[in-house]
Formats: sequence, structure tokens, C-alpha cells
Amino acid sequence: MKADPTTNELLELLKQSREYTQYFAELGVETIALSSEPVATEPSGPTSASSPVVYSTRRAPSGSELRQSAMKVPGVSHLPPAASLFGELAAPQFQSTERLEDVWRDIGDCTRCGLCEGRTQVVNTFGNHKARLMFVGEAPGADEDAQGKPFVGRAGQLLTKIIEAIGMKREDVLIGNVNRCRPPGNRQPTLEEAAICRPFLFREIAAVQPDVIVVMGNTALRNLLEVREGITRVRGKFQDFRGIKVMPTFHPAYLLRDPSKKRETWEDLKKVRDYLDNLPPRTQ
Ligand code: URA
Repeated sequence: MKADPTTNELLELLKQSREYTQYFAELGVETIALSSEPVATEPSGPTSASSPVVYSTRRAPSGSELRQSAMKVPGVSHLPPAASLFGELAAPQFQSTERLEDVWRDIGDCTRCGLCEGRTQVVNTFGNHKARLMFVGEAPGADEDAQGKPFVGRAGQLLTKIIEAIGMKREDVLIGNVNRCRPPGNRQPTLEEAAICRPFLFREIAAVQPDVIVVMGNTALRNLLEVREGITRVRGKFQDFRGIKVMPTFHPAYLLRDPSKKRETWEDLKKVRDYLDNLPPRTQ
């Protein structure tokens, strides 16, 4: 039997509420109660992934109040959402009052997961704080762990060539990872390790607001986007992460193992270059 349009709309509302709840959880918000008063004035200090945000409940909110307050997270505000079938419920592009330094201060000498035991140092996102293009990989390797910067080993050198191939310099872009501590033996981070670390990446993205994020490999792909398919199927097709264009492509370490895949990566990066070339200049 076919559901009527109202049922479909309600189902869509439910789906979106679930997505928002998950989004806030990833930002470190543990409790959202609702207030009849204006909520979530901009914070004076940095937000913390570990400090919950609690609003008091005075009365049952109306539907539109619920939607408005549900979109407010201290440190992260939203642009007016794009028009769509569901009007104001469309996914908002998020902005933040935080700076990268605020996020890094919060990360500190992190011991939130077991990866801290084997690492030399935390490897934070690195590069241009006003970048229009960001690259996201998996986790630091031995060279990154030793130097404290992402993508400085062999895969990093290939990444530099990829960046230069589209007419940019490493200093123009921002480069980060889902996890900031080197996993033992360079294994893939577990789902739990990735889930603990990625809220910081999300806060960095909100702080910098790049126009395009290139996710390199399956770990980056699956931690930014809710996709079941692997990188081979999804690569080359622009996706969306909270209003920001995402281009999935192969990880440079994979290209070192299988150089025949460089051609496809080049095709993906040309799309990124063309997209960026056609954007209007930023005003600030
Ligand atoms: N591989 C990654 O995913 N990240 C790095 O920083 C280095 C290698």
C-alpha cells in the first residue's frame, strides 16, 4: 500500500530528527531540553566536546520552536537553510564561532581512547585556517606521529603532488585525519576510536567552512558521510556534508600500492578544481 503524502512527510521529519540527534551527539552535546526563552546565545568561550549542554524545560515547545532550538548548538550556528520540499527543515550549513585553536585546546594531550597509549603525540589538522579546500585522511602513520603533522610521509608527498596538480600549494589547503593518534602497526582505527575523535574534525570543519572537502579512502568517506558503498563506487561523485561539497577519492597510500588508480584520482580532482574555479571570490 502506498503511504499518503502526510505520512511520508511525517516519516521524513522523523528521519531528519534522528539525523540531527546523531549530529549533536557527534558534536559532544549530551542533553538538549527545550526552553520557552531564546536559546543558545553565542558562547563567550570555546565549546567542549566533553561538556554537556543543558537547557531548562519550562513548557512543551511548539513544533517550530522545537525545530529552531534543535538546530542550535553553542559555538555552532547555522545559515538560513536552503528552500526545499521541507522548507526550513532542510539541512543547514553549519558555521562556528570557534577557531581551530579552540578545538585544539580542547583536544589537549588527549586520552579519550586507547590510541593515546601508543602514540608519540597528537597530530592535529594542519594548514591554511581559511582554506577553501580541505583533505581528510584516516590517521597518522609513523612519520606523522614523529613530526606531529598530517601527511608528511610517502603518502603525504604524493598528496602534495596531487594538490600541485590542480594548481594549488600545500599552504593553500587544510589537511587532517579522522583520528589524530597513530594506531599501532598502522592498523585502521576501530569504529569506536573513530567515533570518539571525529567530533573534533567536525568542529574544525565548522570553524573553517571549506567549500570542498576531499575524503581520501574508506575511513574518511564513512566517517563523514552515511554511505554503505566503498570508495571505489562512490569516488568521483560530489556528495554533501552539512551543506559542504565532498569529493570522495582514493587514499594516496592506496595509490602508492596501485599506481594505475592515479588516473581516476586525477579525474576526481579535476572536478574539484573546476568547482572551485567557478566559485565567486570570498568577501572575507
Ligand atoms: N595516512 C593518513 O591517512 N593520514 C596521514 O596523516 C598519513 C598517512
